[in-house]
Amino acid sequence: MNTSSSTISDSDWVARSLASVWHPCTQMQHHESLPLVAVSHGKGAWLMDHEGRRYLDAVSSWWVNLFGHANPRINAALKDQLDRLEHAMLAGFTHEPVVQLSERLSALTDHHLGHCFYASDGASAVEIALKMSFHYWRNTGHAEKQEFVCLEGSYHGETVGALGVTDVPVFTEAYGGMFRRAHVVMNPDARKAGDGETSGDVVARAINAMRLLLERRADRIAAVIVEPLVQCAVGMAMYDADYLRQLRALCDEFSVHLIADEIAVGCGRTGSFFACEQATIWPDFMCLSKGISGGYLPLSLVMTTETVYQAFYHPDIARGFLHSHSYTGNPLACRAALATLEMFEEDDVIASNRQRSQWLGEALAKVAAHPAVRHPRQTGMIMAFDVEPPVREAFARRFFTAALKQELLLRPIGTTVYWMPPYVLTEEEIAGLGEGTLRVLENVA
Ligand SMILES: *Cc1c(COP(=O)(O)O)cnc(C)c1O
Repeated sequence: MNTSSSTISDSDWVARSLASVWHPCTQMQHHESLPLVAVSHGKGAWLMDHEGRRYLDAVSSWWVNLFGHANPRINAALKDQLDRLEHAMLAGFTHEPVVQLSERLSALTDHHLGHCFYASDGASAVEIALKMSFHYWRNTGHAEKQEFVCLEGSYHGETVGALGVTDVPVFTEAYGGMFRRAHVVMNPDARKAGDGETSGDVVARAINAMRLLLERRADRIAAVIVEPLVQCAVGMAMYDADYLRQLRALCDEFSVHLIADEIAVGCGRTGSFFACEQATIWPDFMCLSKGISGGYLPLSLVMTTETVYQAFYHPDIARGFLHSHSYTGNPLACRAALATLEMFEEDDVIASNRQRSQWLGEALAKVAAHPAVRHPRQTGMIMAFDVEPPVREAFARRFFTAALKQELLLRPIGTTVYWMPPYVLTEEEIAGLGEGTLRVLENVA
């Protein structure tokens, strides 16, 4: 078997991949015409193939990469960690990286969320938050609180429990019989504002819908789960921070937990480290993953309060939270996360992203001048617009293919095009991203 990479061309890797790798979130037959890119290496915001072509990773490789590929500082931290400890189980044992990471994250919430529980992927973090909330109510004498609430268009991952709180038909439809569906309540998507309505009016309607459900059903409901500020996977639906403030108050009024799924919007993506900061609230559970390891290694976690923690702290083992994953708190992944948090601190990334967001907003405004563009929108380092193409069929795939020819990695969701780039783009790269996107739009729409 030929395993050396130097002599193999791009098309060889593609053929071998299509024969042996079942790619995620893909109808494999589409690859009869859809290009598959074999990445050879990465540097900064760029991914390179084996034949010298390059692509600007404008979606941070599915929203995980914060500081570019092959980042020298994260690489150095990982090389150092690799020679110390690659992994040790986290039951009965602990290690420096997981302790330091938990302390730092707790400090970032002013110690409101001072207990960190670890897993490896985002969906598992969501499952953990759901289970902890459910189990909390059982431990505190409210075993009847077993139901969950999610928002219309919500996405919280694709394992069976997470699908129960997900409302994106392409992911849920085939599996409806496998899980128990949460209550789905109107979302505050700012695009819903009618003539003369503000985003605040949309918030009021959405809060009212939530209040009606809680008035009727709160005694059976464990938690409400939301993606703060931006519902990403449904197509970058953005909403007013005031919704979160009012939702927090409702959850308090009706004794229901609030779970903030910051897997996509955390780690500076919306302009503050946590999206919840923009509403000056803390949830009862916060899920993090994706960017937390800088896009290097699978790592996820759930942060929660002293109150929740204390409800499990007891001599009886069955009152404890017995959930685990084999790689829980993996030292390499935690070390990558520590290097990521160090960069936020040392480089004041939140501040430098303000300048970057402004450039991105200016580039977006130029693209938005195209007559097929609807609802250009931005929250921090997330830019999106909807397209009304002459032909809707396979729009996302045609756009992706055309973007590769402009050296851009862009992967629309339906007819929504978005940029979610790493926090290393230069002014020049941003201008290039804007001009390239406009050229793609001219080709496809
Ligand atoms: C990506 C994502 C998840 C799931 O994370 P995985 O690591 O893909 O399982 C959950 N919630 C949100 C908001 C996400 O964007």
